[in-house]
Amino acid sequence: MGQDQTKQQIEKGLQLYQSNQTEKALQMWLKVLEKSSDLMGRFRVLGCLVTAHSEMGRYKEMLKFAVVQIDTARELEDADFLLESYLNLARSNEKLCEFHKTISYCKTCLGLPGTRAGAQLGGQVSLSMGNAFLGLSLFQKALESFEKALRYAHNNDDTMLECRVCCSLGNFYAQVKDYEKALFFPCKAAELVSDYGKGWSLKYRAMSQYHMAVAYRLLGHLGSAMECCEESMKIALQHGDRPLQALCLLCFADIHRSRGDLETAFPRYDSAMSIMTEIGNRLGQVHVLLGMAKCWMARKMLDKALNAIEKAQDLAEEVGNKLSQLKLHCLSEGICRSKGLQHELRSHVVRFHECVEETELYCGLCGESIGEKNSRLQALPCSHIFHLRCLQNNGTRSCPNCRRSSMKPGFV
Ligand SMILES: [Zn+2]
Repeated sequence: MGQDQTKQQIEKGLQLYQSNQTEKALQMWLKVLEKSSDLMGRFRVLGCLVTAHSEMGRYKEMLKFAVVQIDTARELEDADFLLESYLNLARSNEKLCEFHKTISYCKTCLGLPGTRAGAQLGGQVSLSMGNAFLGLSLFQKALESFEKALRYAHNNDDTMLECRVCCSLGNFYAQVKDYEKALFFPCKAAELVSDYGKGWSLKYRAMSQYHMAVAYRLLGHLGSAMECCEESMKIALQHGDRPLQALCLLCFADIHRSRGDLETAFPRYDSAMSIMTEIGNRLGQVHVLLGMAKCWMARKMLDKALNAIEKAQDLAEEVGNKLSQLKLHCLSEGICRSKGLQHELRSHVVRFHECVEETELYCGLCGESIGEKNSRLQALPCSHIFHLRCLQNNGTRSCPNCRRSSMKPGFV
């Protein structure tokens, strides 16, 4: 298969893919990969295969194609292609919750010689790196990366990237519990979709709606949460987007749990769990188990709760997510207290405090915790976060955590 035919076949595959004939598109692309001797074409088709498998949640295949793509980029001896394939490798690892590997491959990307693509893809590298830091609950580093990605987006008028960063920032603020910002950023993303997104894939709309649903749920606006989540799920089902379906099911379950309707919550947690397991989203599984544990606790079935917590704790340790570990120790503490298990109780308290130290989830001004209850937060340019009220009361000019001067307030 020569250059022209390769190009045609890739194009045909793209058309099939865009009209939701995913399996046919995949077959076409795999044939190109098998038959074509055109290196450039092979590189492109591997990119298509990586994206398609990512969207379907087949992350192990995604990773496999990304690795082959790197070899092809090396054969092409082109720095732009090498960067693109390393970014794909980083993203595959991010999806598989291999956060340390993600960060390391992102650093490889940033260390490659400056190229034209470097200016374009740099923002995406920073975004992936931020997501990985967030996965490890390294909040300051995550915020730093997201801000970098946002600067890239603004400098290059890349509204699609801006939209994705806004969704990640929504996720960030939902975790550190500034619910106002957790809603603000996905709303901003949704605005970008309606202003600029006519030619974009619907997944951007679905993504922003999902993050809005999460924030509305946390704010207690359960009706709005339900509406956004239904909209997101509708698109995820149309597009065979398994990863988003799983997240929506988890969100539905959480909404029902917030309403006190555990009967309806449980089967949704189960469905979310089975998709998360199928696609290999281990952090997602932790979140499902956390929700289930809270349901069991509400029903006073402490042994079942402990069982879910133990499973979640193993997974959270595996992927290195400190915030989930912290929450799980906190739940265990409560259960041990009511069961009178003094020895276990003490060990959970100790490990809880270790997690607080590691995540630095306390305000450097008042010393109180961040992320325990909803409060307005503000980041300084160094990306350390504080209670907004503490910054206002202290009128501080340099960061008390790192002493870096902060003459201008951070934009988040
Ligand atoms: Zn404070």
